[in-house]
Amino acid sequence: MRTEIIGVGTELLLGQIANTNAQWISSRLADYGIPVYHHTVVGDNLDRVTSSFKNAQKRSDIIIITGGLGPTEDDLTRDAGKRVLGLNLVEHRETMDKIQSYYDRNQRTMTVNNRKQSLVFEGANVLPNLEGMAPGQWINRDGVLWIFLPGVPGEMKHLMEEYVLPRLQSNFQVDSQIVSQMLRFIGIGESDLETKLQTLITQQTNPTIAPLASEGEVGVRLTATGATTAEAWKKVENLKEQILNHVGQYYYGSDDITVEEKVRDLLKAKGLTIGSAESFTGGKFLERLVSLPGASNVCQGGYIAYTAEMKEKVLQVSKLLITTYGTISNQCAEVMARNTQSLLGVDIAISFTGVAGPDQSEGQEPGKVFIGLQIGDEKPEVYEYHFHGGRDQVRTRAVKKGYELLFH
Ligand code: ATP
Ligand code: MG
Repeated sequence: MRTEIIGVGTELLLGQIANTNAQWISSRLADYGIPVYHHTVVGDNLDRVTSSFKNAQKRSDIIIITGGLGPTEDDLTRDAGKRVLGLNLVEHRETMDKIQSYYDRNQRTMTVNNRKQSLVFEGANVLPNLEGMAPGQWINRDGVLWIFLPGVPGEMKHLMEEYVLPRLQSNFQVDSQIVSQMLRFIGIGESDLETKLQTLITQQTNPTIAPLASEGEVGVRLTATGATTAEAWKKVENLKEQILNHVGQYYYGSDDITVEEKVRDLLKAKGLTIGSAESFTGGKFLERLVSLPGASNVCQGGYIAYTAEMKEKVLQVSKLLITTYGTISNQCAEVMARNTQSLLGVDIAISFTGVAGPDQSEGQEPGKVFIGLQIGDEKPEVYEYHFHGGRDQVRTRAVKKGYELLFH
């Protein structure tokens, strides 16, 4: 079942108003599990409205049109509908009476244009508009369901809630229970993940799969509908299993869990403690861990050694190392991690040194970052990165990367 929403109005194309009708209708249809395939916007021009109706007729099963049903010259939805549906327009008695009594009450004379609002397609199911003049219309024609609604948002919503949604639900026996779950991945980019899941994404309509990147990680939202919540959850679980078959090694948890919570849980499960040595991250790494309840089980503490002098004094990095390699170096990150481990007596030490920007430092480009890891008595590992973005982004990305390294 393919649904298309067409907004008629030049003001939408000019950017004078946003197409909030389409947004609202789409989100309500999603609540009922009715998939929307296209949003179309067309100006007040008879030929162009006509051709957008023809396109919709070819590719959609349900077409919802808003706007252009008013009394003025530029309200062309009826004329275009007449051409495409091949149906005559007839006067709708009750609407006509309503318009007439409005004019009588206000002691004004009705114009020919005003009569236009009472015209409906022959055989249409008329949806009475209690909020305004032009009624909505529901027409089944050659296997396509056409729904015409006024453009005024309040009137449109009233007709949708009152008639359209309940009828769609009973006519199409759509599922009304919706559940959704966010799967969280780290260590893989959004486009890479999308490529790996491409077949699943295109094959899948229930649940839908929506990837979403933020702050150095990727979320994938699965939304399913079913007759019952249990049925909908089952669909989510099935798809989750398939997704994890493809990209399971990057998955760290679902819904509201964060990667630092995951790291806390992993360390706790293994009975390990951690400490940090931070330069340009200024304690951000430790702060995120300490902000979690239960951090004291795994976190001993750390050092913030921002300048070269502090790295010497506090972390016992030698002057020779600093003059030879600089503080933004593989060697410095390694010694920072190794010394932190012995100074704090922790199982795992992590170090951060780099250039947050916006300016260079020690002749190195902003975004260049070294992260050192000393785990037990293994040989220390140092990872080099080049992060994009401003100062905040580089610092945030580096911290996130630190957690990612600990998770893997
Ligand atoms: P009217 O009887 O008021 O002329 P109509 O059915 O002809 O109603 P339009 O003239 O197209 O509808 O739009 C009426 C008003 O509704 C517009 O001025 C605009 O403020 C709002 N509107 C129309 N279309 C949309 C839309 N897609 N999204 C949000 N608002 C809209
Ligand atoms: Mg109008």
